[in-house]
Amino acid sequence: MRIICPVKRVPDTAAKKAVEPDLTLDRDGVEAVLNANDEWSIEEALRIKERTPGTEVVVLCVGPEQAQQTIRKALSYGLDGAIQVSDPGISGSDASGIASIVAGALADEEFDLVIMGNQSSDARTMLLPAMLAEYLDLPALTYCTKLDIDGDTVRAEREMPGGHQVVEAKLPAVVSVVEAINEPRYPSFKGIMAAKSKPVVVKDLQDVGLDAEMVGLEHAWTQVLEVTPRPPRQAGDKVEDDGSGTVGAKALADFLVARKFL
Ligand SMILES: Cc1cc2nc3c(=O)[nH]c(=O)nc-3n(C[C@H](O)[C@H](O)[C@H](O)COP(=O)(O)OP(=O)(O)OC[C@H]3O[C@@H](n4cnc5c(N)ncnc54)[C@H](O)[C@@H]3O)c2cc1C
Repeated sequence: MRIICPVKRVPDTAAKKAVEPDLTLDRDGVEAVLNANDEWSIEEALRIKERTPGTEVVVLCVGPEQAQQTIRKALSYGLDGAIQVSDPGISGSDASGIASIVAGALADEEFDLVIMGNQSSDARTMLLPAMLAEYLDLPALTYCTKLDIDGDTVRAEREMPGGHQVVEAKLPAVVSVVEAINEPRYPSFKGIMAAKSKPVVVKDLQDVGLDAEMVGLEHAWTQVLEVTPRPPRQAGDKVEDDGSGTVGAKALADFLVARKFL
């Protein structure tokens, strides 16, 4: 079995974000990390590998030269190899652009399953899994909280209001997973050392059958028109209770009623 794990390089959540003059995120001025949701997809791929002898897990990242660091981090969990798509023409691509690049990178790759996080921590569009499945003309099982592989079938559970749904599809397929699916392991020292020398196949746009006219900021279907900084956090109202609890309770009730929560 061959599993592909697409991962994203994102600004550290705690880092102060800045915007470039072209209204894209300044990705070089801040510390970059492996997208947190992709640790769950990597963990799930490794658990399938441990249950299914002969399984190979390959990480795939669309990102600039610096994304090699993110790829090595993903490899340090014990993955087998990596594919990076890097090309100046990719900068500023929207979700559709990135999905077409990932699909192009997989066009001549053998694989049975693509396991992704359900969302990135910077853009949070949650569009990639479904868009990738569309470009690859494969079934998509998204927001999975449980995954089972049975021969050529993947069966998944996902949470629904008031319960959960069981869905299944024939392989090859694309799945996205959510936090509830597992508890990611920490990379071992052996894994970190081994990751330094694991093979990374680097492809450019031409290698994935695309050209700069099809992706990038200029050709994005979505354009950021304006960026307004979030207003500074206002100090909350302080309520002094007289010890009876009623003053605080009444103030809270009034607050909730005024905002139509009650
Ligand atoms: C603040 C902000 C807002 C944006 N808004 C939009 C928007 O409204 N519409 C739009 O089309 N684009 C938008 N973009 C661009 C979008 O972030 C990128 O195109 C991105 O690569 C794909 O979308 P996502 O991060 O939301 O992916 P999501 O769908 O949220 O990510 C899901 C999974 O896809 C995989 N993945 C995501 N990116 C990559 C990658 N580069 N390489 C490999 N795997 C990947 C990971 O497994 C990830 O867990 C925005 C970017 C920013 C920074």
